[in-house]
Amino acid sequence: MTEATPVDVVANLALVRDRIAAACEAAGRDRSEVRLLPVSKTHGQDVIRKAYAAGERMFGENRVQEAESKSVELADTLIQWSVIGHLQTNKAKNLAKFADEFQALDSLRLAAELDKRLQAAGRGLDVMIQVNSSGEPQKFGLPPEEVEDFAAQLGAYSSLRVKGLMTLAVFSSDPAEVGPCFERMVEVQRRLRDSDRAVGTWDELSMGMSGDFELAIAHGSTCVRVGQAIFGARLDPNAYWNTQAARD
Ligand SMILES: *Cc1c(COP(=O)(O)O)cnc(C)c1O
Repeated sequence: MTEATPVDVVANLALVRDRIAAACEAAGRDRSEVRLLPVSKTHGQDVIRKAYAAGERMFGENRVQEAESKSVELADTLIQWSVIGHLQTNKAKNLAKFADEFQALDSLRLAAELDKRLQAAGRGLDVMIQVNSSGEPQKFGLPPEEVEDFAAQLGAYSSLRVKGLMTLAVFSSDPAEVGPCFERMVEVQRRLRDSDRAVGTWDELSMGMSGDFELAIAHGSTCVRVGQAIFGARLDPNAYWNTQAARD
């Protein structure tokens, strides 16, 4: 085994921030419209502390238990945690304890359980609805045509502050395949804004990752979730996708 080349998190972060700024400029968008969510899954507290020292304040994690233990290890910081991966209903109580944001809401059963736990803890939570914009059967998220009905029922859960939508586009380097996923999201957002049943502003569109965040910004993303371009390649391939393989 050869040692992996050390990853310069601070330099990578600077590069990613520059690329986000350039993509905003190319799209004629204000830089303040797009936030970077560094995705720290599989990485330890040392690297997270480097990104924190470089100014990052919220980190994305796709597994709730991993996020929860990091929140304990890093309790001396001002870090906020965004859970971006599928959550089983029986883990809602863990998430309600520490998370500031949850981007993968995809069932009413989960919404009800989260609300119950959050109410008990006297906390609120920013949430996004995960949409399956690629139609791939292995991906989590609601089909685009079901989002309005789903969103219309979330008003019952007052601890959930519904901000918008999240998606994972098809995993491809071809913009002709990825772009339509992002367009579908903008379409769903427009439908929600026109809806008299789905209450909310629907401003957040969380889309774009290391491989496609510039394209996502061109299509209106407000939150890019970037892991590998900042922290380097992940060693655990199972940690990569938020897919069927992660169901248990
Ligand atoms: C891991 C992950 C990301 C980041 O992917 P990278 O390719 O490392 O940038 C974004 N969103 C979700 C839901 C993830 O699980």
